[in-house]
Amino acid sequence: MSLSARVRATLAVVLAGTLVAPALPAPAAPAAPPAEGPPSAAAGPARSTLVSPCQLPTPVTGWQHEGPTNYATWLPPSGTVRGIVLFVDFTNAAPVSGERAGRTSMFGAAPNFFADSSYGALNFQLTFDTAWRHIPQPHTAFAGYNTSFSAQRSYLAAAVAAANSAIDFSLYQIVYVVPPKSAGSFTNSPAWVAAPGDGVTADGAELRHAVTFGQDVDNWGYKILNHETGHLFGLPDLYSYNNADSIHRAVGGWDVMGLISARAPDLFAWHKWKAGWLADSQIDCRTTTGSAPATLTPLGATGGTKAVVVHTGGNTAVVVENRQVSTLDVASGCFQPGVLVYRVTTAVFSGGAWPGGNVPPIGGPFPVEVVDRTPGSDVTTCSADEKALVNATLTAIGHTVTYSGVTVQLTATPGNNREVSVTVV
Ligand SMILES: [Zn+2]
Repeated sequence: MSLSARVRATLAVVLAGTLVAPALPAPAAPAAPPAEGPPSAAAGPARSTLVSPCQLPTPVTGWQHEGPTNYATWLPPSGTVRGIVLFVDFTNAAPVSGERAGRTSMFGAAPNFFADSSYGALNFQLTFDTAWRHIPQPHTAFAGYNTSFSAQRSYLAAAVAAANSAIDFSLYQIVYVVPPKSAGSFTNSPAWVAAPGDGVTADGAELRHAVTFGQDVDNWGYKILNHETGHLFGLPDLYSYNNADSIHRAVGGWDVMGLISARAPDLFAWHKWKAGWLADSQIDCRTTTGSAPATLTPLGATGGTKAVVVHTGGNTAVVVENRQVSTLDVASGCFQPGVLVYRVTTAVFSGGAWPGGNVPPIGGPFPVEVVDRTPGSDVTTCSADEKALVNATLTAIGHTVTYSGVTVQLTATPGNNREVSVTVV
């Protein structure tokens, strides 16, 4: 590797780190709300509708978590959801030729992710503005957009004002803002969610859901749009907000809310159930001790039982699902199809942050943690973020994992279905 290549590689890691660990204050400073969901954005009451005994109560309101979503604040991920993609330049940053076309082409792949992942339940549409709109300020005027709800709101308001003569914002539920690559103030790509009354008004509509993209788009590709939009739907980050931690220790590459560039980015069955894309009838809910079999259809295929969920008490559940290579996945030695087992909790929020937004402890807990069938056995040919959990799955008959009194054994592999025995003591 040449020196310049080394520099580029290092830069990529730094930028990736910027995204995966949203800007947090220096250790001595008081904890600030992470950029992707300030507590003020989540002031509404938590929806208390617990229809299934395997859903998890949410102990306190606010932010993104694994409990029932408060759709008074977050955006329901069903029916038709329309997003407008704006391109904005500044007094000190202009795009280069072809930049808008390149971004349009890249993000154009994002709607299919949601169509496939939701089994068609979500009709997600993107409209791309056809020109750069000028914000008559330097991009540096919006520094802090990724650590402050109000600074990000100011940036969104400036972008909407710049485009308002050309766009009817009443047609859209989500605003995406894309700056030129040369606008160096924009490093990462936080989502923005406003409670009713805190949004930006245009064309008679209150805009409360947005994503402001940064330079890290070039590292992640189009699926960063799916990840950030996942936040708008109420899904939490599944990586650690503690820079001193192993960032992707919790779920590796098994969900786009974890590692965006992963080989297996489809959303967990738990997330699809939370989003309403899976019916209660597709969840095999267990609340008592004993042993029973289940036949799981692949997560990426429509129909059938998608998960066994064992409510192990309080705010915690253990989930079993069948991961085979779907249209969203990349066939690779870094994706070992099989039965995946993970623990879910609502005790912590996005990024492992405890209520109040403090920097989470090293090692978690995180909202979701994959149970590793092969602890300590990395697949060293895979990326540092994925290698520990690539081989977490149960891939051969007889493979077994136990977590918190729940034992899961793979018993048969008919076609792409997987039969398991789940024992609760
Ligand atoms: Zn995120």
